[in-house]
Amino acid sequence: MKDIMPVNGQFEMPALPYEALGNIISKETLGFHHGKHLKAYVDNLNKLLPGSGLENLPLSEVVRKSEGGMFNNAGQVLNHAMYFEQFSNSSKAMSGKMKALLEHGFGSVEAFKKEFEQKGTTLFGSGWVWLSADKDGKLVITQQKNAENPVTMGLTPLLTFDVWEHAYYLDYQNRRADYLTALWQIVDWAVVENRL
Ligand code: MN
Repeated sequence: MKDIMPVNGQFEMPALPYEALGNIISKETLGFHHGKHLKAYVDNLNKLLPGSGLENLPLSEVVRKSEGGMFNNAGQVLNHAMYFEQFSNSSKAMSGKMKALLEHGFGSVEAFKKEFEQKGTTLFGSGWVWLSADKDGKLVITQQKNAENPVTMGLTPLLTFDVWEHAYYLDYQNRRADYLTALWQIVDWAVVENRL
């Protein structure tokens, strides 16, 4: 996983490499999600960093070493940076290596997607569903509440779907399952595999 480094003790806004994602995520949703929600997490984190002793660490280290408000904002910056980075309007298909890893872990790519969607749908309240690799390279799916990220469990995060309502409510209203199913169409597997 490529970490995010601070510049002069402050984190920059993660890029949004597209304006809209076809008919899967609208420009309006992205405007609020990236421009308002993520911006607030970045601003809050940057206010908390000076004097914390964590201001020159890579973002994943800040997440691992912080708690309370600092953890919530640092976690949400890392989670959203990974979320926005992994989508594309010209999605790359998964390689044979990734397919083999998913088949080894879950039986088939379809079985993986089904379990991932099911864990996203059944996560109560706000949070994230993640695909990660453990230290032996085995793939695991976890449900993480609120701002949690699998790096706190010693896992290498590969892919995440945001199930906070702000991620889908404008486009899908209460239909979280439909949003999760649609996201597969825009996953850029080249980005996901680069995190291995
Ligand atoms: Mn979000």
